[in-house]
Amino acid sequence: MTDAAELKRRAAELLAAHPPAATDRLDFLRARFDAGLAWVHYPEGLGGLGAARSLQAVVDAELEAAGAPDNDPRRNGIGLGMAAPTILKYGTEEQKQRYLRPLWTGEEVWCQLFSEPGAGSDLAGLGTRAVREGDGDWVVNGQKVWTSSAHNARWAILIARTDPDVPKHAGITYFLCDMTDPGVDVRPLRQITGEAEFNEVFLTDVRIPDSRRLGAIGDGWKVAQTTLNNERVAIGGMRLPREGGMIGPVSRTWRERPELRTHDLHQRLLGLWVEAEVARLTGERLRQQLALGQPGPEGAGMKLAFARLNQEISGLEVELRGEEGLLYDDWTMRRPELVDFVGRDAGYRYLRSKGNSIEGGTSEVLLNIVAERVLGLPSEPRTDKDVAWKDLAR
Ligand SMILES: Cc1cc2nc3c(=O)[nH]c(=O)nc-3n(C[C@H](O)[C@H](O)[C@H](O)COP(=O)(O)OP(=O)(O)OC[C@H]3O[C@@H](n4cnc5c(N)ncnc54)[C@H](O)[C@@H]3O)c2cc1C
Repeated sequence: MTDAAELKRRAAELLAAHPPAATDRLDFLRARFDAGLAWVHYPEGLGGLGAARSLQAVVDAELEAAGAPDNDPRRNGIGLGMAAPTILKYGTEEQKQRYLRPLWTGEEVWCQLFSEPGAGSDLAGLGTRAVREGDGDWVVNGQKVWTSSAHNARWAILIARTDPDVPKHAGITYFLCDMTDPGVDVRPLRQITGEAEFNEVFLTDVRIPDSRRLGAIGDGWKVAQTTLNNERVAIGGMRLPREGGMIGPVSRTWRERPELRTHDLHQRLLGLWVEAEVARLTGERLRQQLALGQPGPEGAGMKLAFARLNQEISGLEVELRGEEGLLYDDWTMRRPELVDFVGRDAGYRYLRSKGNSIEGGTSEVLLNIVAERVLGLPSEPRTDKDVAWKDLAR
């Protein structure tokens, strides 16, 4: 297996052949992918070397120290964090070759067409229909909602109902949808922050060739589990230095602005600082587990903690800043390319973190997942398990 020394040697080779200062950014990223140094735990030929996932940090550090460009991962969080591991697990060889390289380099941004107006927590109840024309293309009709980055995306991971006559989990199929196809209509949805980071997406007679189906017909729910488990880890399990998350700005304000301090706020800040540090270290542990394979339901616990902490910490920051904390930068409609918690002001952090307990599964639903699949507690009563989707009350 490739070790740290071998990776350092390969990184040096890449840098010698493509000096960052004299190489076009995209050319460098493509060369990095081809050298297997993009995501080292991926297979050879697909941007990796089959190395341990934990060794990625060795490559990143070598390349960063040499001033090499990165692939700006925050611009393509859904692609890197969710679409890629799902394509890797379920894609055909042809699909992996076609999609993974431009996804990793950031040339093609991805979005997630899962939620619908009538199917969020109950995602398996979704109603967007994909009907196959004989042995030919699939024709998709329906509406998706809360689709982050749809306005920047070239591709989407899409789940749609292909068989309404079987119980809801069994009649879903997973597709890769070209967002530039006729019939894909993306409309902005404005959020509490004033920005439209997400969208509603209307799909009208969108034609998807069968070669863009991911996994078997009717297996879409199983394939989507890989996406959803990775989503929770991507949202809640980011690698951060100490004070790298929400706790950073409030701790800095505390140090720099002694006139704002009170005894009560001090106690609360200390408590949250400790919790943030515990969550950060738990994230490290989770990533070590990930080195052994795909994430399971444990990511739900991490995402739960992340959402609660972000909301409590940003609330404390607004309180600490007093009247100043109520100021918010700009209410004009904007279409941000990424969510930047730390680089924005306290008002943005407070408002945007409200979505953390909804996106990627609400906290209530994640508590159910932890109860049932981690702790093994009895499941909620389910009356729709054996009923055909078309016969469910709506
Ligand atoms: C910022 C943001 C970005 C998002 N990005 C995307 C995206 O890119 N792609 C995408 O597909 N979706 C996206 N979503 C949608 C998100 O996944 C859904 O909003 C979420 O799954 C909840 O679904 P819902 O909004 O339909 O709420 P509902 O499912 O209607 O839930 C309403 C309330 O009922 C509670 N509830 C529901 N069922 C249960 C239960 N069984 N037990 C206990 N309580 C329950 C919920 O916790 C919630 O409080 C995003 C959401 C946000 C906020």
